[in-house]
Amino acid sequence: MEFLQPRSLPEALAVKAERPEAVPIAGGTDVMVELNFDRHRPEVVLDLTRVPELADWSGSDGGVRVGAGVTYTRVVAELADALPGLAIAARTVGSPQIRNRGTIGGNLGSASPAGDCHPPLLAVGAEVEVASSAGSRRIPIDEFFTGPKESALAADELIRAVHVPAATGPQQFAKVGTRNAMVIAVCSFSLALDPSGGRVGTGIGSAGPTPLRAREAEEFLQGVLESEGLWESGGPLGEPAAARFGELVAGAARPIDDVRGTAAYRVHALGVLARRTLGWAWDQYRAGRS
Ligand SMILES: Cc1cc2nc3c(=O)[nH]c(=O)nc-3n(C[C@H](O)[C@H](O)[C@H](O)COP(=O)(O)OP(=O)(O)OC[C@H]3O[C@@H](n4cnc5c(N)ncnc54)[C@H](O)[C@@H]3O)c2cc1C
Repeated sequence: MEFLQPRSLPEALAVKAERPEAVPIAGGTDVMVELNFDRHRPEVVLDLTRVPELADWSGSDGGVRVGAGVTYTRVVAELADALPGLAIAARTVGSPQIRNRGTIGGNLGSASPAGDCHPPLLAVGAEVEVASSAGSRRIPIDEFFTGPKESALAADELIRAVHVPAATGPQQFAKVGTRNAMVIAVCSFSLALDPSGGRVGTGIGSAGPTPLRAREAEEFLQGVLESEGLWESGGPLGEPAAARFGELVAGAARPIDDVRGTAAYRVHALGVLARRTLGWAWDQYRAGRS
């Protein structure tokens, strides 16, 4: 196995152009599992940990450009105010060791339907910046996931960063697992409220071939908040609206039965997570106004 260790992004992209089969490795918390279990034995491994351009985040266009190599630990420590949904999800990942090594770019690179970053990124309409030696492009997050563990990333491209709009209102994330840590989610849900744009965003994890949005639920809740003047009044959200929101989120899921849970359980649990996160987020919104 060849192990290539570029020291800059142009160098890494030149390798990817010449050897598109090279498997990038960042934290290695997914790649090394594959290697250790002998599920996959790449001929070339491309180590990205010495590429400084991937290692940092910066403010950009009213949001944050999070470099692909930024770890969960750093998201929690440094970005919880600007990107609360992503930070809450990051806090739930694996264990301290996994959060120290695992990166946002690696989560996107694996494109697992269960990746915990994906629901909060969907809920806020993030964009994935990818680069090749021919240039770079930004892929809206809803177009990034194309199938189970498949993405729109071309063979000669690397994930450079993810552009995440800064929060203008409460954001939440919750997941169900068979225990509290070190498990793949049975299902997960993220909600983002954007009072400045009157927008509601959602993301569903582990309940479909790709991470999903619950668009009908978003439109329904936006309609209720607007038609009842709740953004302005900060009044309570009625139980029927919360229940309907939960039903619509559950209805957007396309789960399967697998070792972690049945499709029926996932649909039920998503309805609960949707109502619960909505309750938390709306309470936060109301408290922030007083
Ligand atoms: C014990 C354990 C617990 C875990 N718990 C969770 C959890 O709770 N939630 C969760 O979501 N995940 C979990 N994971 C999975 C894993 O930690 C995450 O998916 C993590 O984000 C992967 O990041 P990494 O930097 O380690 O990626 P790597 O393993 O280095 O790479 C992952 C994939 O992305 C590709 N890649 C990496 N960087 C780039 C780049 N810049 N451009 C293009 N492709 C790239 C790699 O080629 C590979 O296909 C867990 C893993 C373990 C071992």
